[in-house]
Amino acid sequence: MQEGLLIVLSGPAGSGKGTVSQLLLRSPEFAFSVSATTRAPRPGEVDGVNYHFISVADFEERIRRGELLEYTNYCGNYYGTLRSEAEAILAGGRNLLLEIEVEGAANIRRLRPDAVLIMLLPPSFSAQEKRLRGRGTETEEKIRARLARSRAELDCLHLYDYMVLNRDNGAEDCAEDVRAIVRAERCAVRRHPGAAAAFFEN
Ligand code: 5GP
Repeated sequence: MQEGLLIVLSGPAGSGKGTVSQLLLRSPEFAFSVSATTRAPRPGEVDGVNYHFISVADFEERIRRGELLEYTNYCGNYYGTLRSEAEAILAGGRNLLLEIEVEGAANIRRLRPDAVLIMLLPPSFSAQEKRLRGRGTETEEKIRARLARSRAELDCLHLYDYMVLNRDNGAEDCAEDVRAIVRAERCAVRRHPGAAAAFFEN
């Protein structure tokens, strides 16, 4: 069985990553690795579904035990990918979707050069600001911190393999772009190093 692809989906706050991920996860081909975080749950978020919501002490203990594939501190909270969760999904042949920020993405690139890095972008900075305020899930201070971070995130665009533009209400188009990227990546010659030899053996 071919191992699943490791797909990193990043994007500035308000880019629509969550919605696009939900659309992708409707297909059994994709699986989501539930990250651990020390930030407080937003209304409606469920422990073990959106995140594993854990304490700072617990997070730091997991870092020490090597349980995190990658982790970062984003706007004052820890976020990290649990190694056990990610590896089980890949071994099962499903495509692993990591919805993580740019520092985590750069770490994944080092650990797993075969990962596919996709940046989801709002149409513009002003559109991003409008969306973030419209969402109404963060305080003004947190909105400002997230907006300020988007410059650093865009500075890392060159690390990514693909960019997908989320036009207004374009989540389904974005999901379609991601599915197309994954389909093409599965056919990439570099992912099939023994193919020519196998052709004559079978
Ligand atoms: P939020 O608080 O909006 O859920 O997430 C804040 C940022 O942290 C987002 O950019 C999200 O993609 C990122 N993030 C979520 N989980 C992880 C993780 O496990 N590792 C890293 N590096 N970033 C994460």
